[in-house]
Amino acid sequence: MPNRRDVLKIAGGMALIPLVNVNVRAADKVPLDDPAAVALKYVEDANQATRVDKMGVAGAEQLCSNCRFYAASAEEGWGGCALFQNRLVAGPGWCAGWVPA
Ligand code: SF4
Repeated sequence: MPNRRDVLKIAGGMALIPLVNVNVRAADKVPLDDPAAVALKYVEDANQATRVDKMGVAGAEQLCSNCRFYAASAEEGWGGCALFQNRLVAGPGWCAGWVPA
């Protein structure tokens, strides 16, 4: 029968499981052929997209890195996007869901 210390170790280890899963998911880059990415016309280089002026911001100034849904990550040049379940998108990228930060 496990003693109190063993139970606390097991409980502590189990508490880390969701965090590990979140980190693995967050490290995934959004594939360009992902159905949601295709639907939102996501590109890793915003210069490849036709961007129209939106909410007072010129299309040419719209990038993932200045989008409200973008959160910088540990991987330089990439950030989590709330529209893509926090998977990584390219900082210089863009999609039709862009809104100013
Ligand atoms: S919602 Fe914003 S951060 Fe996410 S892919 Fe589109 S432009 Fe980039």
